[in-house]
Amino acid sequence: MTQPAFAPATDIADAITAAGLQPGRSPAPVRLPDPAILFRRRADRLRRLAPGHPLSAWLEFVALLSEAQHALAAAPLSAPATPEAQWRRDLDSLRDRLRGALPTPAAEALDSLPWTDADALDGLAARLTTGTLLPDDLTAAPFVAGALQVAWTRHAGGLKASDIAAPATAVTCPVCGGAPVAGVIHAGSDVSGLRYLHCGLCHTAWHHVRSACVACGEGNRIGLRTVEGMDGPARAETCDACGSHLKLLLAEKAPDLDPIADDLASFALDVLVGDGGYAPIGRNPFLAQAG
Ligand SMILES: [Zn+2]
Ligand SMILES: [Zn+2]
Repeated sequence: MTQPAFAPATDIADAITAAGLQPGRSPAPVRLPDPAILFRRRADRLRRLAPGHPLSAWLEFVALLSEAQHALAAAPLSAPATPEAQWRRDLDSLRDRLRGALPTPAAEALDSLPWTDADALDGLAARLTTGTLLPDDLTAAPFVAGALQVAWTRHAGGLKASDIAAPATAVTCPVCGGAPVAGVIHAGSDVSGLRYLHCGLCHTAWHHVRSACVACGEGNRIGLRTVEGMDGPARAETCDACGSHLKLLLAEKAPDLDPIADDLASFALDVLVGDGGYAPIGRNPFLAQAG
């Protein structure tokens, strides 16, 4: 078997350029998530991606988690709280939902969380959202990520997009401050051809100028790459000015794509650009343990 190799990704350049050049176009700066459908769609997408995939067991596990998240996110709260306080309640509810549904290693990982120590849980959450997880955190981190996503997505879904300011060069989420999972090039709507960065925590999407590197703002040394022979919507945008890379997902190639699911499923591309010396801009809360 030959090693996968880079191939230039030229199929989206024209569409993107055309969209960026339309005079007078002012895209919505922010698109807020719909907590009632987001997690269900993710579970469905993961189940379509899993069969035959090298990470199929992991994709199936995240699908199971997404279904439990859906049950929480779609239900109204009796006593709303800030996401910083609410997420631990959501973690309790996730445990109740998942109990009995998980394979043994995952069930043990769930039980291993410091359930009675709010400070320890908040510490774990802080390390997760800043990309500083410790080796001992890894097995339980997906459940913490799952609860944080529910609390923050519910919060973001209750905001008004017009109240949120997001400059078109923002690198972090204008709602929660989180890192983007990936950029999505949208298709078939009023935002067709435009790039939005998608938060991996609260699932807010914010418009980002397509002509500039998300990390350094440089526009002249950007490349688009894919893995030779790999199907699907994922491309890697690499910047030779700062040495970083960000996943780009093309909705045109997969109208049902989900940034978290499709980023996980295209992990081979991250490995390849990582081997090429590029540092990731994006962060997927379910990737740390996937390998
Ligand atoms: Zn966010
Ligand atoms: Zn750059």
